[in-house]
Amino acid sequence: MAPETYAVIGIPLGHSVSPAMQQAAFDHLGIDASYKALETRPEDLEQRVKDVRRGSLAGLNVTIPHKTRAVEYLDATAPTATRTGAVNTIFWRDGALTGENTDVPAIAGVLDRAGVSRSARALLIGGGGAARAALLALLERGHEVLMANRTPERARGAADRIAPGGSVPVIALDDPSLARRARECGLIVNATSLGMEGGPAPEASPLPEGALGREQFVFDMVYRPERTPLIERAQAAGCIWVGGLDMLVAQGALSFRLWTGVEAPLEVMAAAARRALQGAGSHHGSG
Ligand code: NAP
Repeated sequence: MAPETYAVIGIPLGHSVSPAMQQAAFDHLGIDASYKALETRPEDLEQRVKDVRRGSLAGLNVTIPHKTRAVEYLDATAPTATRTGAVNTIFWRDGALTGENTDVPAIAGVLDRAGVSRSARALLIGGGGAARAALLALLERGHEVLMANRTPERARGAADRIAPGGSVPVIALDDPSLARRARECGLIVNATSLGMEGGPAPEASPLPEGALGREQFVFDMVYRPERTPLIERAQAAGCIWVGGLDMLVAQGALSFRLWTGVEAPLEVMAAAARRALQGAGSHHGSG
């Protein structure tokens, strides 16, 4: 039988870490499968999903800009994908082509493993796809959440979708009360691309000076570089922190399990992701 082919679809994919990470997992477990990066324009998205239906692709990871629109071409979505309105994994379940958002359990897993208290008030910075996934994960863990975003209306839209009823307040990222309100939160999550190498503002931190103190836990979803300006600030303030690599590996491992039914070799995937990130220089890509 021909080896199965899996792929990440998005554009631009640049130096996506997923192929190295997923291929390492297949190889380690002796599964005869290959994993490719397939740059996919919006007008080709439907065809890519059809390729899964026809069996020329066995499963997909989905990244920017297709996470929301991919839902249209599927038979079913898992509850986390339904609630966020976004999928990052396409797989077969009981004969139905199904979408899941493994970012949500990946975020929860990062916080669980770090022992972050569920009663900590959380400041979630961002309003895009990553922020949606984080909001659902935080609410499911029981956190009280405040969102801050450059475009507050976008965060408001995310909050209204995931927590209808206005229970999640939203402020602008340049609100003068941001530093004080951040200090009132035991958990800070950055789901913006600020601080990302190759991104819109690689030198920027989403929080100003004086917003962090010793008792806080800081989770920055940005994984390139490993130490972002926010992480440097968190470290200087004596916070406990975690960067985006753990989440990247966790979401990939969950996708792997959905496709294969086999537990993913986490350490193997983490080592491959780290090597891919080191080798990628200043280029960047998603997922
Ligand atoms: P997205 O939908 O494009 O959202 C980008 C976010 O960054 C928005 O909140 C945007 O604010 C904000 N932003 C961008 N440029 C800004 C600037 N100059 N000043 C202030 N805010 C700015 O992207 P996404 O999918 O949510 O991803 C966000 C980040 O999370 C990326 O760095 C991505 O690599 C990372 N991520 C990591 C993982 C992981 O596994 N570790 C998974 C997913 C995403 P506006 O709404 O105002 O535009």
